[in-house]
Amino acid sequence: MLHFDIMDGEFVPNFGISPPFIAAVREKTEVPFDVHIMVTRPLRYIDALASAGADLITFHIESEDDPNETITAIKAHDIKAGLAFSPKTPTEIVIPYLSYIDLVLPMSVEPGFGGQSFIPSTLEKIEKLHHKIQDIDNSPDISVDGGVTVDIGPQAVRHGATILVAGTAIFKSEQPEAVIEKLRTVV
Ligand code: ZN
Repeated sequence: MLHFDIMDGEFVPNFGISPPFIAAVREKTEVPFDVHIMVTRPLRYIDALASAGADLITFHIESEDDPNETITAIKAHDIKAGLAFSPKTPTEIVIPYLSYIDLVLPMSVEPGFGGQSFIPSTLEKIEKLHHKIQDIDNSPDISVDGGVTVDIGPQAVRHGATILVAGTAIFKSEQPEAVIEKLRTVV
């Protein structure tokens, strides 16, 4: 999947990627688009992102819109819904939504900027989520985003992560294909 980080300059102190950019990339590839929106009011962007070609939209529990309403709005487009939470947010807050989402994303860095180091306590959060989803039919993926490297990736997978999001580890590497291959084959 191709993971896009959308930032509104309000939820996080940075800007990044707009729906027209996603639509332009969509013309070039059929790879699934995993769109992570770090914005204060996610509801107002769902229609535009779905039209732009998102296959999955992940919004933050800390944003201002109602999570159930936002999940419903995403699913109305027949695409998948994900729920992210920032490092300082307790895992318990997302637990009630696990049956209704396709992906849960414990952020392993403060959202907003690339190039940060993985926060080690994220591994415990992944494990807690992994245990919580065992009883759920069609249980959500557990994605990990922020500071994922070829060293961290296997640890996250051992704790229950099923999707690894890597930015800097791939883009700053001289051998990006090799990094992707390594991340895909961790056990
Ligand atoms: Zn992201």
